[in-house]
Amino acid sequence: MFLSSPVEAIKFKGLGTATIKKLKSKGLKTVEDILYFFPVKYYDFSLIKKISDTTTGEPVALKVIVKSKRLKRSFKRGWPLVEAIASDDTGNIKLIWFNQPYLMPMLKTGNELIVFGKPDWRDGEFTMVQPVIKVLDPISMLDFKQSIEPVYPQIRGISNTFIQKLIAHIISNVVMVDFSFPEHIRERFSFPDKIECFRKIHFPQSSQEIKEIEKRESPYLKALIFDEFFEFFLGAFALHKREDSVKKEAIFIDTKTFMEMVSILPFKLTEEQERVLKGIFDVYKKGERLVRLIQGDVGSGKTVVSILAAYPLLKKGYQVALIAPTEILARQHFSTINTIMQKVGVPVFLLTGSTPQREKAKIYTGLESGLIKFIVGTHALIQPEVKFNNLQFVIIDEQHRFGVEQRQAIVKKGNNPHILSLTATPIPRTLAMTLYGHYDYDAIRSRPPGRKEVKTIIKKRENDYEVYQFVHKMATLRGVQSYFVYPLIDPSNSLELSSATEKFRDLSSTFFKDLKTAMIHGKMKADEKEKTMERFKNGEIDVLFSTTVIEVGVDVPNANIMVIENAERFGLSQLHQLRGRIGRGNEQAYCFLIVERLGENSYKRIKIMAKTTDGFRIAEQDLKIRGPGEFLGTKQSGLPDFRIADIFVDSQLLESARNIAKECVYSGKVEFKNSKKWEKRFGKALV
Ligand code: ADP
Ligand code: MG
Repeated sequence: MFLSSPVEAIKFKGLGTATIKKLKSKGLKTVEDILYFFPVKYYDFSLIKKISDTTTGEPVALKVIVKSKRLKRSFKRGWPLVEAIASDDTGNIKLIWFNQPYLMPMLKTGNELIVFGKPDWRDGEFTMVQPVIKVLDPISMLDFKQSIEPVYPQIRGISNTFIQKLIAHIISNVVMVDFSFPEHIRERFSFPDKIECFRKIHFPQSSQEIKEIEKRESPYLKALIFDEFFEFFLGAFALHKREDSVKKEAIFIDTKTFMEMVSILPFKLTEEQERVLKGIFDVYKKGERLVRLIQGDVGSGKTVVSILAAYPLLKKGYQVALIAPTEILARQHFSTINTIMQKVGVPVFLLTGSTPQREKAKIYTGLESGLIKFIVGTHALIQPEVKFNNLQFVIIDEQHRFGVEQRQAIVKKGNNPHILSLTATPIPRTLAMTLYGHYDYDAIRSRPPGRKEVKTIIKKRENDYEVYQFVHKMATLRGVQSYFVYPLIDPSNSLELSSATEKFRDLSSTFFKDLKTAMIHGKMKADEKEKTMERFKNGEIDVLFSTTVIEVGVDVPNANIMVIENAERFGLSQLHQLRGRIGRGNEQAYCFLIVERLGENSYKRIKIMAKTTDGFRIAEQDLKIRGPGEFLGTKQSGLPDFRIADIFVDSQLLESARNIAKECVYSGKVEFKNSKKWEKRFGKALV
């Protein structure tokens, strides 16, 4: 049999139609699936200790003789309860089993047993509850070398012993079990054979080996983890190699040109911005295609970097497109870019859903003829009507807001264009590397100087009026504008949460009676939102009530207060993104998190926000608390489903597997064969 053989092809006693059905219901369809069905723990009968040497709470095996037993009824539910007293030459221990009356015959007085479990004190007696039991008779005594038992996740109607035997059978009979990496790499890392890895993880031979597996330090486990990562990255690079390796015109940017270029900005680039930009120019110089993701906190200056990165291509007469997820953002980018590009005489155009039809037609023509060089827009850019003359550079802002198809659609309009993706979501490095397998990755880790850190203050609900008073004072005395953010638009019957509508009404007629207030939310029409946002930007509104529609990228330097009500309802990364909307000017900014009564853990979670403004640290914490699924939004998480590899725990192996896979693909040393299988497993994960 082979790894890919279906379960039906395994010839094994007891493996009939009914059992196969049960295996399949757990997703075990092939020989490979079963080999990757790993134990959740091991019963280590090799660890036999004396009763007097045990520590409470630590799993241990004891070799004991039965002294007495009895069958009782449990107190509460009347279940059968087996109790036995057993001893070795150092003391006694009480053994208790619930609901397993069939054990009684094994507990004959004088029988020798091995029990495995965690001893503890219970009602003043040294006790083991529900221990696993092995009866020793002279024959199985001889057999007792096989003293570590793997324990598998339960499958209804299939015994643990059956799975053990089935796996042992597969390990002895399966052929052609190869790693996804070539032999020279196996040697370089001194990895064992792959089948040996399975053998050792299913059937470790000593307590030491179990410990290594549990700590993920086992060389056998590491080899399998590396193997999975390698397979993933090999495919990710190989499948994109054809496009990626398209030779582009080499462009060299000398120091003089560089200085000239940055001088069009009204400020000096930060060191980080300059480093990232130079990294991009290095790619141009080599005549390679740029496929890069840049992360940076809100306000770290990604947009500016992307415009400068486009500049050398504009100078060559090529077309550049920037696509943003919302109209508000596209507009904002348009005005920034327009200001900068006017200085060098490159006209910039804006195309969104609300661009008037006549204007649209003009833009389509301009793009197709190549007269328009720089276009900024929303999803409107990926409509079929939009055709480019020679699109060579695509900037995707807030890239995680776009689906894979959307990103591909804009890229396909070009001529293997350079791609620069921007994201403010501080995804931990290894996660980014996995999600965007073949993308290069860089990050801007500092903000432009002169910005004060946002002060974050947590307020309990009963003191919310202090916040409202502060907002009022700052508005009337210093003209500071504020955002108020809510988890809901309208009040809900089932949830006791503040809603934007309700609070907008209440506060506008009480605390903020003499201020100009307005509301904005996702259900409003795009142009209504636009107008409200415009008025807020122009200072015509003091307090803006909203839901998370303001989450992304909107820049209002005079808005320096953000109040988030029911902050406990938001993810930390989301709070961080929201908070990034303020502190864009030079004044001290304040973020108030109003929370309901909270449990200790939720409070701890929220407190991270007050402690740090480092998006990467916040993301890591958030990830720890919520897990990657929720962190990314469960549905579109798009994470490859690795069988044992864990991108967070095994991050070192991930990085080395990725580097080596890339090296293999680009040197042409390793051929990528099984692309069908790969796409079936990982395809949806890729950008
Ligand atoms: P991001 O897209 O990362 O949120 P932007 O590129 O929009 O950041 O920059 C945020 C604001 O900071 C903009 O108003 C921009 O003009 C300004 N900015 C960017 N880089 C610098 C810099 N080096 N020095 C001063 N201001 C900068
Ligand atoms: Mg931005």
